[in-house]
Amino acid sequence: FRPGYSTELRLLQAADTVRERCFELLKDKSLVSSPDGETAHDAALVQGMYGLILDWDHRNEEGLEPFKPMVERLTAVKSLDEMTEFLLSEDNYCFGIFPAGVGLSVNSQDSSLYEINISSTGLMAYSDSAEYDKETVSGKRRKEFDDNVFSYMLSRFGIEGEEKQRYMEDAFAFEAGIAPYIKSTLDWASPNAVREAINPVTMEDIASFCDAFPLPEFMEAYGYADSKLINLEEPLWLLAMNELYREESLDMIKAYTLKGMLRGIMNISDEEAFRAYQDYAGQFAGITDNEPDEDIAYETARAYFPYCFDRLYIDRYLSEEMRAEIEKLCRDCIDTYREMLSENEWLSADTIKEAINKLDHMTIHAVYPDKWADDSIYSFASAEEGGSYWKAVKSVMMGSHERTLSRINGVVDKDIWGIDILDTNAYYNAVDNSINIIPGFFCDVSYRSDMSLEEKYGALGTVIGHEISHAFDTKGAQYDAYGNVSNWWTDADYEAFMKRAEKLVRYYDKVVAFDNGIPYRGQLVQTEAIADMAGMKCMLKMAEKEKDFDYEKFFTANAELWARKDTQEAAENAAMFDPHPLHYLRANVCAQQFDEFLDTFEVKEGDGMYLAPEDRIAVW
Ligand SMILES: [Zn+2]
Repeated sequence: FRPGYSTELRLLQAADTVRERCFELLKDKSLVSSPDGETAHDAALVQGMYGLILDWDHRNEEGLEPFKPMVERLTAVKSLDEMTEFLLSEDNYCFGIFPAGVGLSVNSQDSSLYEINISSTGLMAYSDSAEYDKETVSGKRRKEFDDNVFSYMLSRFGIEGEEKQRYMEDAFAFEAGIAPYIKSTLDWASPNAVREAINPVTMEDIASFCDAFPLPEFMEAYGYADSKLINLEEPLWLLAMNELYREESLDMIKAYTLKGMLRGIMNISDEEAFRAYQDYAGQFAGITDNEPDEDIAYETARAYFPYCFDRLYIDRYLSEEMRAEIEKLCRDCIDTYREMLSENEWLSADTIKEAINKLDHMTIHAVYPDKWADDSIYSFASAEEGGSYWKAVKSVMMGSHERTLSRINGVVDKDIWGIDILDTNAYYNAVDNSINIIPGFFCDVSYRSDMSLEEKYGALGTVIGHEISHAFDTKGAQYDAYGNVSNWWTDADYEAFMKRAEKLVRYYDKVVAFDNGIPYRGQLVQTEAIADMAGMKCMLKMAEKEKDFDYEKFFTANAELWARKDTQEAAENAAMFDPHPLHYLRANVCAQQFDEFLDTFEVKEGDGMYLAPEDRIAVW
């Protein structure tokens, strides 16, 4: 494994290419004085943030000093009222944690409008609420990481011995107390989760749920209360949270808040804290060698300002021709889906018509957009100007908050994609019915303009087919052509569809991927498994139209895209939380559904890769 990685796959070359080019952009000081104002500002932000992250001298000089007053203020809290006051403070907003997620999102029933969405308490000890009930091997590692981080930071602030022990136990007790009322990873993977999460409420409703928990006060203090549309994802959680927010739970709430704050501080303070974090995170993922600081600084700067990097990158490295070629491939795939749907034998004509309507309205986001959000709201002092990393983080937080406030009660501009095009990924976005095929995904193994047609189909083609099919997986099927949650299926068709999906879920439930009791769960991977198979079917259909199509090349290109090595820890964590099947399953289970594969590689009954037609699980 390369330093800092728990995974190796050829697709990582795509991230390497992006990184090398971004380093050129970070080094090019002339960009900052570009006559184009936006370019100059973008370059100042990314180069400034990169420089501040690597300014160890200044970070070490300041150490934990800038954070001491707020940690002291929190540890001195003596009553629930003081606790509430602290939770509503600006310091806690920027560096700490509020025991509810409140943020801007797109309204589910009218995707042209923004709403304020309220989600449940963030859990730190485990990332899955189910682990508080029954701990898995992966969960155990996660808790060790959480304990290590909290314990280390408490010591750095001089909290030791029994006091430390109490903080650690109290913080965990708080999470364990609220976890039973929070949906698990598996609950969220259920198709029902889409509708269950839609609960429109008013500020009056929230006030009536919260006679103790200061959620209404938090929303007022930060301007969220002005939103006409508010959604509460988990009403039962809010009732439980309100019950928990009592004077007798003060120590637990305080300990939880302290843990969240210390975690926030750990990565933005000095080098010693940063190294400790790296070591603990490495243990969690089975990583032994740390990633170079420059790479981490680049990734962090990109996480703060993705669109600034994107714009600089497009100017220098991308072309209209590339965009036109990818757009055409996407268009061809959508046309093929139209054929697949019109030939479908288990859906009624009404549902097929609606499904084709959804395809007709699908938006293709190929390579890069023409329109961007305005990032001129951001500014901070660079290292040369005497700035600090933590001050820059605070100013970015406040800038993002201003942007959120400006969007409340506004209309969603769907020409702005809202995704980082340099991510090593591709997406279907249900709320605007778009497929997003972006340059961060391109490398030798995924897409090159000089690849053979078979390789193009086997690699990027299957990925485009995969993304389109998310419009018709068990979750995407609940959104209509305009990205609104709305039922366009007849009852009988939806039942037939779910029956096919259940067969697939049962297949994956039987997979034994590990010998240490880590379960494999069909429900978690169903949407991605359905998408892989549909994507491959779409490409095989396009292949039928080609003379002398080389199927071996096609399947090999697909397998090379997914060939991957993980540390044991990373593979186990993926099985627990990643909705994509493990990569060996992605390649093998998908291929064995198709006669073209079995024929090409002469797979026969009795062979490990053989799957009888009646046992096949492709939904589409
Ligand atoms: Zn997917």
